[in-house]
Amino acid sequence: MNARPLAIAVGQALAALAAVAIAAASPAHAAETAPRPWMDRSLSADQRATLALQAMTQQEKLGWVLGHFGADFANKTKKHPAALPFSAGYITGVPRLGLPALFETDAGLGVATQATATPRERTSLPSGLATTATWDKRLAYNGGAMIGAEARASGFNVMLAGGVNLLREPRNGRNFEYAGEDPLLAGTMVAQQVKGIQSNHLIATTKHFAVNDQETGRFVLDARIGEAANRTSDLLAMQLVLEQADPGSVMCSYNRLNGVYACENDYLLNQVLKKDWGYKGYVMSDWGAVHSTTQAANAGLDQQSGWEFDKSQYFGGALEEAVANGHVTQARLDNMVHRVLRAMFDKGVVDHPVAEGGAIDFAAHGLVTRTGAEEGMVLLKNEGGLLPLKPGAGKIVVIGAHADVGVLAGGGSSLVYPIGGNAVPGLEPKVWPGPVVYHPSSPLKAIQARAPGATVVYDDGTDPARAARLAAGADVALVFAQQWVGEALDATSLSLPDGQDALIAAVAKAQPRTAVVLETSGPVTMPWVGQSAAVLQAWYPGTSGGEAIARVLFGEVNPSGRLPATFPVSESQLPRPVLDGDPKDQTTRFAVDYHEGAAVGYKWFDLKGLKPLFPFGHGLSYTRFSYSGLAASQKDGKLQLRFKVSNTGAVKGKDVPQLYVAPLNAKWEAPKRLAGWDKVELAPGASTEVSVAVDPRLLATYDSRSKTWRIAKGGYKVLLARDAGGADAASVTVQLPQSTLDLSGKPLR
Ligand code: BGC
Repeated sequence: MNARPLAIAVGQALAALAAVAIAAASPAHAAETAPRPWMDRSLSADQRATLALQAMTQQEKLGWVLGHFGADFANKTKKHPAALPFSAGYITGVPRLGLPALFETDAGLGVATQATATPRERTSLPSGLATTATWDKRLAYNGGAMIGAEARASGFNVMLAGGVNLLREPRNGRNFEYAGEDPLLAGTMVAQQVKGIQSNHLIATTKHFAVNDQETGRFVLDARIGEAANRTSDLLAMQLVLEQADPGSVMCSYNRLNGVYACENDYLLNQVLKKDWGYKGYVMSDWGAVHSTTQAANAGLDQQSGWEFDKSQYFGGALEEAVANGHVTQARLDNMVHRVLRAMFDKGVVDHPVAEGGAIDFAAHGLVTRTGAEEGMVLLKNEGGLLPLKPGAGKIVVIGAHADVGVLAGGGSSLVYPIGGNAVPGLEPKVWPGPVVYHPSSPLKAIQARAPGATVVYDDGTDPARAARLAAGADVALVFAQQWVGEALDATSLSLPDGQDALIAAVAKAQPRTAVVLETSGPVTMPWVGQSAAVLQAWYPGTSGGEAIARVLFGEVNPSGRLPATFPVSESQLPRPVLDGDPKDQTTRFAVDYHEGAAVGYKWFDLKGLKPLFPFGHGLSYTRFSYSGLAASQKDGKLQLRFKVSNTGAVKGKDVPQLYVAPLNAKWEAPKRLAGWDKVELAPGASTEVSVAVDPRLLATYDSRSKTWRIAKGGYKVLLARDAGGADAASVTVQLPQSTLDLSGKPLR
């Protein structure tokens, strides 16, 4: 051994001895041996948080409110050494008190990795819109439980998942992360996902609060919307998630709301979230959404996330100084920390510490995501019963969208890197919000496996004339079409990109037995829809997407997805035919006037008497269902609806009967609202009774002055329908008495 390392070793030993001596004399060391009353599981989360807080130094308190990014940032800052590599964030814990650090990961489709050459390969759920399109609460829960288990096994205890921004803007580049246009549907489904995630003793973070409904100009735009309209739309969706799932954390968004940045917005954070809704968790900022210290802290922001993205460490030394100077009270800082600690105790983060390197059952998880994908697929059109395909279908030509090798994923922070690598590497954009990723689940192979007697060939679709010639000579053509979007990047239009409309038109013209499979974030326009016999909306279908698509095409799974968003004929039908802002300019401030208020999606179409391409709620099956016996009653002031669903077709299937309510006299934002639904599975010839209770807030309008919901006395028509188009809906009219409800929907008096 040479002298140098030895000298270092001796030096280190002396230093360690000195440290022990100092520590023995310090109050910090006393705490290591002192009892830790906050570890007593019989106490409430509130009590435990209070006790832990009392034991902390000011510096330790400040540590809980400052988040660090988990990767090097823009060649400027290095990742925090203790953060998990390429993760979204890290918050130092207080090990001497037995309080673990917080390890944060994105997001709603699974465990994401923030840009790297060696990503974590994890299971991806189908897109949020796909999950919502199942209209099946159990599947949303199962998906959440699955990705939460992968987060835990990967060493994360905070999952930044629970995206519930309403689909006001079909071009929004993040629609695939969210849950569609209706507050009841979105809130209910996201709540289930959050519950599933948190069943793993993790904190879930519902987001982005609030009205972050487009990506163009998201850092600067001012979302303008009336208070009552907001309470009845975007805020209601979030409120339902909080009521039903109690996520440990809420993420405030980048945008301004009525003039004030969301993360320093007293109305949003203090008034609505914490006071009106009684939220006890903590508010974390989005990454780069903080603009101040005093204003943000006093407006209700509890934790600055990934501070590197902000102009300053607003909740670091600046907050310490603000407290010292009295601009932010010590009580407020204590409350910020208390909220974080309370969530940690409440969700089990302290009692069930996470560790990296846990086993993941990828095969089982592949089935969870496959089930979600197949149940979320929406059969939009099926003329002449082209689908399901028969195994001996002669010659099948599969065209386009890299269907030979994989299925598309959306881009940005939520991207889950595929197990087995990207099936189509090298596509643009290669950098964030790229890379463009295809999960290596080949639709072509899955189709071939199901049609052993058929000849199945692939054409990449780059030459429409060639593809059309191939299609003409086949018995069936399956055209796959894709639309890639990502965070920070809205679609420039609702048209399929890269000439795919022309490709589909050419193939459908050559081959009447053409089915189109769409892998898109959300709604797209379909100028060719009259020519193609069948259209299957497959969304971004996740890890097992290729299998799922083939199973639906061949009828191994009877499609049962229903649209969670209206598909317009064209942009001219939208409240904003042209997207506000300039995608190339992320700094000039502008406003988005949400003049449609709460009349989002189908409500807007109803209000304006517009006929969409496909209505909200639409979706076909390989069997048929009929409804009968719709009856309404009122129990404890709650409207209860009952009816019978029968499978009158020849195969087993699942249906989603939907209930809409339309006031006869009262004035709502639109003619009708979704009030409830169920998803039922029925064998051919079988029937079942369904009963649905209506949340009274869905029958009311919001009164801002009194902060109550009010149901107007009068007649209300209840429609039992297959979709919001409501063509052959059954109906019954009920008389409701005048009533006033508190914010949670409970009758007052
Ligand atoms: C996104 C958030 C995400 C965060 C951390 C931001 O760009 O808006 O949804 O959780 O990054 O990665």
